[in-house]
Amino acid sequence: MDKSPYLSVVIPVYNEAASLDELIRRCLAACGKTEKSFEIILVDDGSADPSAEIIAGAANRNRGRIIGVFLNRNYGQHAAVMAGFEASAGDVVVTLDADLQNPPEEIPRLVRKAAKGADVVGSIRANRCDTLFRRLASSLINKWVQKSTGVAMHDYGCMLRAYRRHIVDAMLQCHERSTFIPVLANTFARHTAEIEVGHQARCNGDSKYGLWQLISLQFDLMTCMTAFPLRLLSIFGGIVSGLGLMLAGYILVMRLIHGDVWAADGVFTLFAVLFVFIGAQFVGMGLMGEYIGRIYNDVRARPRYFVRQIVGRKEPADRRPCVQTLRSAKNNKAHLKAL
Ligand code: UDP
Ligand code: MG
Repeated sequence: MDKSPYLSVVIPVYNEAASLDELIRRCLAACGKTEKSFEIILVDDGSADPSAEIIAGAANRNRGRIIGVFLNRNYGQHAAVMAGFEASAGDVVVTLDADLQNPPEEIPRLVRKAAKGADVVGSIRANRCDTLFRRLASSLINKWVQKSTGVAMHDYGCMLRAYRRHIVDAMLQCHERSTFIPVLANTFARHTAEIEVGHQARCNGDSKYGLWQLISLQFDLMTCMTAFPLRLLSIFGGIVSGLGLMLAGYILVMRLIHGDVWAADGVFTLFAVLFVFIGAQFVGMGLMGEYIGRIYNDVRARPRYFVRQIVGRKEPADRRPCVQTLRSAKNNKAHLKAL
């Protein structure tokens, strides 16, 4: 008998001792309301406060329902969520923050939406309770991500999300160190949905993201999504070189008309030549960037594609064609036999 729970809730925890008891109580209640089997995975991301002990205590009291994963040091929120994904077994995986900014009571709605067929269910924070700076930065980034990924989701910063199993497995096959989970998930998702959720101000402690961490997170987001900034070097170089050439043509014509006094004894010409060379250097850097971008893609070794299902073989293939069929291998075998 398959003992995998239907729902896994993954929560990264870093120095959140003050809110953990309430978090666990509310999560257990919310998961109970889904009337599905569930597990709550609390990933301690190297906390320096008693978070790890609280998690261990809760896991011992609720065996099978609360699972503690303890990282040996602090690796960051997204790495912690990945560690939680690795430990999870549910068909639907919900992520949320431990600071109770995301109300756990929204879990049943996310699960219902995922059950209706969405690969990824995102959430939009109604009445977002964060600083003006965070809200402005988020709205800029959301617009940019929407443009770059072509997936029209509105709030990439909110980690209260649900993922279907095959999306989680696909993400686990991506071995890059810096990643931004909501964007990574969307690169594999076919059907996405969004729901509006509540948002609360942090009641204990401060955000773990200072200005520097936020900047670093934006770089993770950008590099996880695209190598386009490298291409910008070539574009910039091309424009500068083009302008240099145009300037050279203009100077030539003006010199022919007005004589060499007009061109400040060759100084203008020097500028034109300089622009062309500076532009060429940028084009060269951009070209190198193109190679680096390709090396980066290969080093990340993200899977090229996922086959959702193979139908019509005489024998179910032994080799593992895809992540999703892997998980639902039992169902597929029955399906193939029926055919
Ligand atoms: N977090 C983590 N490791 C870190 C930083 C944060 O596991 O290095 C967790 C943190 O405990 C919380 C979630 O990630 O559960 C979001 O962190 P925070 O609330 O500080 O971020 P914000 O809401 O300000 O974006
Ligand atoms: Mg928070």
